[in-house]
Amino acid sequence: MNLPQSYFPYRKGYLHVEGTSVEELVRQYGTPLYVYSQSAIEAAYRELQKAFPENENLQICYAVKANSNLSLLRVLRDLGAGFDLVSGGELYRVAKAGGDSAKIVFSGVGKTREEIQEALHYQEGKGILSFQVESLHELMCLEAQATTAKKKASFCLRFNPGVEAETHPLITTGTETSKFGLTEKEILHWVKNNASKEYLHFLGVSVHIGSQIHQLKPFQKTFQKTQTLIQKLEAILKRPLEVVDVGGGIGIPYEKEKPLSLKSYAKEVSRYFGQRSPFRGRLKILLEPGRLLVGNAGVLVTQVLYEKRILKRRCLILDAGMNDLMRPALYEAIHAILPVHKRLGASEKTLVVGPVCESSDVFAKKAVLPKNLKEGDLVALLSAGAYGFSMANHYNSRRLPAEVLVHQDKAVLIRKRDRHEDLIRNEIL
Ligand SMILES: *Cc1c(COP(=O)(O)O)cnc(C)c1O
Repeated sequence: MNLPQSYFPYRKGYLHVEGTSVEELVRQYGTPLYVYSQSAIEAAYRELQKAFPENENLQICYAVKANSNLSLLRVLRDLGAGFDLVSGGELYRVAKAGGDSAKIVFSGVGKTREEIQEALHYQEGKGILSFQVESLHELMCLEAQATTAKKKASFCLRFNPGVEAETHPLITTGTETSKFGLTEKEILHWVKNNASKEYLHFLGVSVHIGSQIHQLKPFQKTFQKTQTLIQKLEAILKRPLEVVDVGGGIGIPYEKEKPLSLKSYAKEVSRYFGQRSPFRGRLKILLEPGRLLVGNAGVLVTQVLYEKRILKRRCLILDAGMNDLMRPALYEAIHAILPVHKRLGASEKTLVVGPVCESSDVFAKKAVLPKNLKEGDLVALLSAGAYGFSMANHYNSRRLPAEVLVHQDKAVLIRKRDRHEDLIRNEIL
């Protein structure tokens, strides 16, 4: 897997994104600034694709919530990606980016009737590939909406395999107590009693056990249980199922973590569901990677506003805060920090914080940073491409940062920085 740094080299001591100088981007667009490398996204996509045998019946559906900027969606669409959505808002974005109706799946525990209708009518009524249904009430609702629309809704049932994903508790989704998915018992019961419905078409099973997973074990356990479930379902239905959606969750290195080998991941997917599985290539395999495709393709560039000492410890205050990049405050995530202009000399353990009025607005407690890094200097928070901008918010009435997409030595602004007016756009006085 790409190291965070590979598309972010230093040239003559200055940090670049591909062939573009970060300092020059800041001169033009200011800080805080998200900068993405198109080549890094493309490389991650192709690496995942190449990990599978060429004849595998595979569709990558990018999980839009990881980063939903239209230009990134366009890059991924051009690579052949479909999309995994969790809201009508994401469907709207995917439509703008030209997402192909035959490659879209809609996940999430709380789809509204309105969202279901929007998806049924997507792309002049073509609809979407599959609703990933998470409760039996949702399925009844889907049937009612499909009947009203007189459109057949294809769906998968999301299976909760009761597997511990071995990641941060706030990003696991496949344990028995999690709000996501249905138990095997519920799925078998429904299928036994509802084999054929005029406006519903049962495609298969989806699973997604969590995010930022580095071990193969939880995936293997999940795939094993899912394979067994599909076999049971096919026996009940006396027909083959068409789709297995193995979800996302593949972890990326933020610091020195050893990432999952994509080859070994792909091998497991193929072994349980692919050409070499009991299904012999007749299941369409959907993958829903989010973080893997964009996480290490983006950095958040920010300026050091002030330096202070707190009980002798050095503290740097940045102009980016938890509203711009929420992961550290939300689940103690760590982002490596690099000075944009490399400095020689001694370093010092540094507390790095944002300006937001919350004690959790801390990026690093002990970042090793050059002693001579000072006010006005720029730093980059690495691996900020996933769940960075997409989680950004206006807390403290802070304006959302700008975003730039770099391809080699070309940089395009793909989202303007908010203006003050944007903060109050929908307010009524
Ligand atoms: C969030 C999510 C994903 C993507 O997870 P990553 O860890 O970013 O790969 C995939 N599928 C579903 C259903 C999700 O909710």
